[in-house]
Amino acid sequence: MPDNCLFCNIVNKQTDTRFLYEDDTYVVFKDIKPAAPVHLLLVPKMHIRSINDLAPAHTSVVGGLFFLAGEMAREQKIDQSGYKLLFNVEKGGGQVIFHLHLHLIGGWRR
Ligand code: AMP
Ligand code: ZN
Repeated sequence: MPDNCLFCNIVNKQTDTRFLYEDDTYVVFKDIKPAAPVHLLLVPKMHIRSINDLAPAHTSVVGGLFFLAGEMAREQKIDQSGYKLLFNVEKGGGQVIFHLHLHLIGGWRR
């Protein structure tokens, strides 16, 4: 794990970030600059730089991330109104934190 990775630091509780969810594999917390009324970051604890770095061994971690997204959407009560799931990939794709994370974005008024 790179020691300058902000999300590794968050995962390792070196910041005061509050988790909405945590298990052995993932943490979920609110985006510090929300782009919508609900904007969560779903983060595997394992340091993976980006989608480009996925290997077959990561299949279950990534699959579980999508399952967790559905669970968090239900918990936030935006599952029926709808939401977006987003991976930014590398600089040109808007990625600024190079530790894999899935944006869960929603909660707009219908
Ligand atoms: P990305 O552009 O996909 O790399 O997204 C990184 C996201 O992390 C951005 O939406 C930032 O607002 C968010 N972010 C940066 N620092 C923090 C932090 N300390 N706590 C929560 N979210 C953060
Ligand atoms: Zn990391």
